[in-house]
Amino acid sequence: TPYIAIDGISKSFGSMRVVRDADIKVGRGEFVSFLGPSGCGKTTILRMIAGFETPSSGSISIDGRDVTYLKPSQRNIGMVFQSYALFPNLTVAGNIGFGLKVAGANRAEIDSRVTEMLALIKLPQLAERFPWQLSGGQQQRVALARALAPRPSVLLLDEPLSALDAKIRVSLREEIRAIQQELGITTIFVTHDQEEALSMSDRVMVMYEGRIEQIGTPYEIYNHPRTAFVAGFVGTLSQLDATVVDASRGEASVGSASISGMSLPENAKPGDTLRLALRPESLRLEHRDGDQTLRARIVAVDFLGAVIRIKLEVGEARLSVDTFNDPTRPPPSAGQTIDLHFAPQTVLAL
Ligand code: ADP
Ligand code: MG
Repeated sequence: TPYIAIDGISKSFGSMRVVRDADIKVGRGEFVSFLGPSGCGKTTILRMIAGFETPSSGSISIDGRDVTYLKPSQRNIGMVFQSYALFPNLTVAGNIGFGLKVAGANRAEIDSRVTEMLALIKLPQLAERFPWQLSGGQQQRVALARALAPRPSVLLLDEPLSALDAKIRVSLREEIRAIQQELGITTIFVTHDQEEALSMSDRVMVMYEGRIEQIGTPYEIYNHPRTAFVAGFVGTLSQLDATVVDASRGEASVGSASISGMSLPENAKPGDTLRLALRPESLRLEHRDGDQTLRARIVAVDFLGAVIRIKLEVGEARLSVDTFNDPTRPPPSAGQTIDLHFAPQTVLAL
């Protein structure tokens, strides 16, 4: 049985339906991300789980208890927001112990929990500092400790890394995931950053315009997107217009070239037009057994450091290819015509 069960929840503000009939199940100890563009309804679902909003319809249960209409304080949920929202007049220790103090815990209990939480976020030396004396990353770790101190049964994180610098963001991803695993706490993490969602989560739920597009492991979402929106949102895509030649052989034509061995939709008929899509890492400059080949002209070469992204044209279509930098070999240059190779089963037919 799921630890968090969300059944058919919808939410309208006035006449605007911002969450549409969402079903979500989260297992005990699972880390699930809600991923989608700004305004798609992620925060609204999180706020309904926390109890800050009431669903217009549907129900939410946690550990078998229907919480749909309970007050936030009756749900035993810890929450972290994008803005650190620490109490500016309290020390780090005061912030972390705040929830326990409100709940009436005694001094010794609070002190020992604060010490435990400071060790968990690896900031034992900062107990007596004030929020303004901390970096953004440290403030967010304290916010996490404050949320975890009352030992909530569920942790909700709403874009907690969005306001931080790129390097800190990446190191905090790993740290949050490690803490979540250590505690085994059931966690929902909201983000619009696909790399964050893919790298941290057991499962990712992709949302668009109030609807759930797909729920799956990062591997499933990235490699087997069920909709064109998911395919485009979780990674870069090169797209080609094609015409079905023979669906049983997975064959379609792209301009004057022909590709076979793809998984095309079962109902595809000869003459149907299709949009084919490829990830930059699926395309290669070297040929391997079983590959299909397209002739392409290099338009631009972007040197990104470890990766070189080559932009090409195949007929009217634009493609991107990622290759690793090789300091012993110069990259290809714009204007060259080359062969592009790929395994046909990596082609997404959208
Ligand atoms: P996300 O977190 O994915 O960016 P939100 O859940 O915050 O999206 O918002 C979804 C939509 O609901 C947006 O169009 C937003 O403007 C609207 N919305 C959110 N909260 C309210 C509110 N209290 N009143 C009216 N509209 C709201
Ligand atoms: Mg939001």
